[in-house]
Amino acid sequence: MNKEAIIKRKTAEKYSGRKLRNIYRNAAVFCAALLAAVLAGTAALGAEIEPYTATDFAMDTVVSETLYTSGSDLTPEIGRLLRETEEKYLSWTDESSEVFQINQAERQTVQISEELAGYLEKALKLAEDSGGAFDPTMGKVIRLWDIGGENPHVPDEEELKRCLEETGYENLDLDGETAAIKSGADLDLGAVGKGIGCDLVMDYLKEQEQVFGMILNLGGSSVAVYGEKPDQSPWRVAVRDPEDGDSGYLAAVTLKGGEFLSTSGNYEKYFMEDGKRYHHIIDPKTGYPVWNGLTSVTVICDSGLLADGLSTACFVLGREDAVPLLEMYHAEAAFVDEDYNIYLTPGMKDRFELMKNTYTIKEAAG
Ligand code: AMP
Ligand code: MG
Repeated sequence: MNKEAIIKRKTAEKYSGRKLRNIYRNAAVFCAALLAAVLAGTAALGAEIEPYTATDFAMDTVVSETLYTSGSDLTPEIGRLLRETEEKYLSWTDESSEVFQINQAERQTVQISEELAGYLEKALKLAEDSGGAFDPTMGKVIRLWDIGGENPHVPDEEELKRCLEETGYENLDLDGETAAIKSGADLDLGAVGKGIGCDLVMDYLKEQEQVFGMILNLGGSSVAVYGEKPDQSPWRVAVRDPEDGDSGYLAAVTLKGGEFLSTSGNYEKYFMEDGKRYHHIIDPKTGYPVWNGLTSVTVICDSGLLADGLSTACFVLGREDAVPLLEMYHAEAAFVDEDYNIYLTPGMKDRFELMKNTYTIKEAAG
């Protein structure tokens, strides 16, 4: 066959009936897909976005949430997710939880889930980075005080000393998906639990295409913000006034979708004795509540676990020592003290709107 004949045959093949049918079919499929995509987009844009608001109880606290979605209400699933996380991994009282099993095993190695191994890895790193101000092995010391429990009291000094000697994050051995505590200490993830809950809800929402935005608030102390509000207005979160119990607000803080806020305060769980406030944030060095003049610390960052752990760590460290830690984690903070002063890190300044004129914003922290 000469060159001309070859070209003719190829052209004929190229535009044969079957080939043409295929081309038309493919083009039709492509157009249909495009049309479907455009219609789906239009439908999504035109769809009603419903706000769902719910109040629930999980992780030992009141959960309040507002969800903006064009689909169904997901707030029951969110409550279930939080309760399951507590039962499966974090609870120190529930026999089915992995933390409970590690504490029961007393120095023996325990097989744990990938999930708990991930939380413990982050908690250990924060313990190291904070020089032990945040310590996830404080369980026995915390139980001795029983602050927020049935019988809160100042513990016997000798007993506290003995417990403290066994305590220390360096006793927690984490190796892949196994964990053991080499001393008599117990795990307590109370300082990061609500933050872990916020992270899980955030991950869950990322998989739900119909969800536009959500604000989740665990006990007023851990908040997660996802996506946007339908009117694009900024998310604003109220921070409690430490001197005004449950009812008063100190400030409103502006958050962007994907951010987390956590507050640690001496007003959350405490008892009074001889005019002294014994609250639930314990200095791992002394075994006693932290009395450094701070009444609350609020932290913003891009992880729930870290915002929660950092607010506890920063409360223990005090304003000046906390600043390098906050910088290490690219976090922002507000420190409130008992003299009604508020110290803000540079990135917190524009987001912090004071609501009480009894307080003064001082020079920036850091
Ligand atoms: P938060 O309210 O997030 O600051 O967490 C306080 C809770 O964490 C307490 O109720 C204890 O269960 C636990 N906790 C207290 N002090 C510490 C500490 N220094 N490090 C880690 N956990 C702590
Ligand atoms: Mg915390």
